[in-house]
Amino acid sequence: MRNKPAITDHFGRRFPYLRLSVTDICNFSCTYCLPDGYKKVKGASPFMHTDEIIRLVKAFAALGTWKMRLTGGEPTVRKDFLDIASGINAIDGIEKLAFTTNGYRLPERAQSYYDAGLRAINISIDSLRPAKFEEITGHDYLAKIMDGIQACYDVGFESVKTNTVLLKGLNDDELDDFIDFVADKPISVRFIELMQTRDNQDYFKAHHLSGGAVTEKLLARGWRLKPRIDGAGPAHEFEHEQSRGTIGLIAPYSKDFCKSCNRLRVSAKGALHLCLFGEGGYDLRDLLQNDDQCEELQDKIMGLMNFKKSTHFLHDGNSGAREHLASIGG
Ligand code: SAM
Ligand code: SF4
Repeated sequence: MRNKPAITDHFGRRFPYLRLSVTDICNFSCTYCLPDGYKKVKGASPFMHTDEIIRLVKAFAALGTWKMRLTGGEPTVRKDFLDIASGINAIDGIEKLAFTTNGYRLPERAQSYYDAGLRAINISIDSLRPAKFEEITGHDYLAKIMDGIQACYDVGFESVKTNTVLLKGLNDDELDDFIDFVADKPISVRFIELMQTRDNQDYFKAHHLSGGAVTEKLLARGWRLKPRIDGAGPAHEFEHEQSRGTIGLIAPYSKDFCKSCNRLRVSAKGALHLCLFGEGGYDLRDLLQNDDQCEELQDKIMGLMNFKKSTHFLHDGNSGAREHLASIGG
């Protein structure tokens, strides 16, 4: 294996951050993502094995990737999730290992996640109201997830964030509740603008709300936009002097969203996705079959960077081939 400079593209962007999906399977049925739950596709290729994942991450780490996020589907439904996390954590160069989860079974599992080397967690909470939470996700788990957040602090997670998809008519009246929620804890709530996918066109029309609505309300309530840290991703982070926590906004439809892109994605089946909304993906799997293929894999990844475009085409209603975000991890 040889070390190369950090992955870059033609537009001067650097990509130190890899989001790796470990499964498409999910046990929730969020109305904007998998409203009918996960459905197995007949004849589909299997998800990457742990050893394939480790080879993949070794190649990325040698190319300068230092931050990783495990996602899905629901990444923690994989029985070998802890083995995957601890295997990645042991790879030279990986400095920060995070994951995104719906938080089911978090109270009893937070310690084992921490012990496997995970240090940053993003938990999806689309409503702070139990009935609304159940309506959106299909599960009455809000109280349990709240206990899970406490467990994450107790075991020592360095970063605890929550993700809330902004949904017109469903949770857009909860901003003040979220402001109260972050007031006394070092948490960052991230509002994510609903993204259009192949499967949620009508839902998108009914529930999409521009992130600008949140920005206006936060500014009116005395919140300030935090200065951008060099190399930070596309989230805008707001702070308030009377709040321990912060509120972030991820607005993919906003102007210049793609300029700060710092991430690449690999699907659970081993395809490199240069953009969340790009067409298809580039199969890397044939180069994950033995340890001798690492240099060839690195060359393939670097070569594929030539195809990374400057922006997505969401504004034209083009969400690429993405049927829903559970197939790539959001
Ligand atoms: N199952 C895990 C979870 O829900 O946290 C990880 C995978 S999920 C696809 C990752 C993130 O994408 C979640 O925060 C989810 O709310 C968000 N997401 C899914 N579909 C979305 C959409 N159409 N628009 C915006 N965010 C979406
Ligand atoms: Fe599952 Fe996450 Fe999609 Fe909800 S958003 S259905 S928890 S993958």
